[in-house]
Amino acid sequence: MSSTSKSQSPSVASSTLYPVPGLDPPEMDSITEKTFERYSSNTVKRNGKGISLVWFRNDLRVLDNEALFRAWVSSEAILPVYCIDPRLFQTTYHFGFPKTGALRAQFIIECLADLKKNLMKKGLNLLIQHGNPENIIPTLAKAFGAHTVYAHKETCSEELQVERLVARSLRHVVLPPAQGKSSRSSSNHNPKLELLWGSTLYHLDDLPFSINSLPDVYTQFRKSVEAKCAIRGCIRLPKSLGPPPSIDDWGIIPSIEQLGLHSQKIRKGMRFLGGEAAALGRVTEYFWKKDLLKIYKDTRNGMLGPDYSTKFAPWLASGSLSPRFVYEEVNRYEEERQANDSTYWVLFELIWRDYFRFISIKYGNSLFHLGGPRKVEQRWRQDQKLFETWRNGCTGYPLIDANMKELSASGFMSNRGRQIVCSFLVRDMGIDWRMGAEWFETCLLDYDPCSNYGNWTYGAGVGNDPREDRYFSIQKQAQTYDPDGEYVAFWLPELLPLPREKRNFPGKSYIEQVVPLKFGNTYKQHSRSKYGGRQSGLQG
Ligand code: FAD
Repeated sequence: MSSTSKSQSPSVASSTLYPVPGLDPPEMDSITEKTFERYSSNTVKRNGKGISLVWFRNDLRVLDNEALFRAWVSSEAILPVYCIDPRLFQTTYHFGFPKTGALRAQFIIECLADLKKNLMKKGLNLLIQHGNPENIIPTLAKAFGAHTVYAHKETCSEELQVERLVARSLRHVVLPPAQGKSSRSSSNHNPKLELLWGSTLYHLDDLPFSINSLPDVYTQFRKSVEAKCAIRGCIRLPKSLGPPPSIDDWGIIPSIEQLGLHSQKIRKGMRFLGGEAAALGRVTEYFWKKDLLKIYKDTRNGMLGPDYSTKFAPWLASGSLSPRFVYEEVNRYEEERQANDSTYWVLFELIWRDYFRFISIKYGNSLFHLGGPRKVEQRWRQDQKLFETWRNGCTGYPLIDANMKELSASGFMSNRGRQIVCSFLVRDMGIDWRMGAEWFETCLLDYDPCSNYGNWTYGAGVGNDPREDRYFSIQKQAQTYDPDGEYVAFWLPELLPLPREKRNFPGKSYIEQVVPLKFGNTYKQHSRSKYGGRQSGLQG
């Protein structure tokens, strides 16, 4: 998750806009076609009858999509559906922020457009419907006589509730016998909901322990899965998945305004493009074209520009990118170019992502509770004014302010930045960590409940691992990861004229600090966890 290595510190003009990936559309299309070709199979057999439905959720991809594959095998025609669930555009649970900010909404719109395009290339299409899945999916299953609805399983309560509601309403759909015949059952006349596991590197069913015995220390989890589990190969699809059922109106992909949001233009920093083509393009760009995988471990704690880390997270969160595909690409890179600590480290980080997903099953809703999985009792403040200085990037600490401005302006923040602003909010401001987590939920392109609330509970010292309880000294972080103040000056151009060493510590040349630091400048004594801080790869 972190290291002591210095950030890559490119010199950039403070107005630079970085498209991620930095490829043009024909190049991304060509990469996608070649990758689909590489991952298609002539030997898979279709032996089902009737129609099956694929309910797309956070799995907006064609490649390595088991729901799509199983639907194809078990039917003569697939109907792919995406529901624009209005609940995703309401407000966050406690503090009333938009549940999906405009930038993530835009990213999802792009994912949908790209998914539709790729499904059409495969002889299918994507039906876009507005409304609750529990109303739409059963209505479609009835209208088309679909014997099975295939979808990917989620783990957190809101998503699980939707799964339960869909399953329940499907039980009320009665299909006429001829339509109800699936390849496996001729007596059952209700469409079935088949939920598949497909979001992690390691499959849930392959874990060497039950979820209740999942280790509470990441290193134990990682060592155990690495030693005892194999990562399943990517699912290979046939070249064509058609035909789709005959439909006159496939629906339209909404605009931002139709989702009740105002479009937000990204003027500087990273501008991520949604969709599987962009995801595959980014893997190609980062691993093969720019050849950055071999130095990832040394650069990953950077904060500025697209190249210090993979930037795969937004596509992993929307499911446009399969972690198993990333694994196979790492293997290919290791065979064709080189294997070193850096090539392994991307997998090390992806295992963190797996870990938080499995932790969300073990600990359920306590991940969202103030006391976290360990039910820690502590006093927190909900000081709105103070919180707003953090949210708006006006705390008087350039490193905090620059990171928060980046988040609002682009929907992204580096892992280093996230740890620093989290520590500042909870430790220096003493503010209820859930306010920070919910603001991240609004803004992050890569928001996913497991990784977000998992990391926030760790940062707030209420996570499942009692040893993760750290303070990040702004002074030390700035000196190590932004020694020339390039990052802060990029987001706070008023600091540009200052000498480089002053940009992070501008004194009276910058706005007044809203709170003193808990440990002042005595960071050397306090920056490490009282348990040593190296155990899990996390470190201040
Ligand atoms: P890289 O450094 O290139 O890492 C590769 C991949 O490994 C990432 O794409 C991600 O999938 C995974 N990964 C890396 N670090 C972590 C981690 N600490 N936890 C889980 N997965 C990790 N990540 C999210 O995907 N969604 C979130 O909502 C989210 N919220 C966070 C909140 C806080 C307070 C913190 C400290 C971290 C959070 N992270 C979250 C983890 C991490 O910051 C991002 O995954 C990472 O910054 C994304 O950039 P990248 O893809 O370039 O990562």
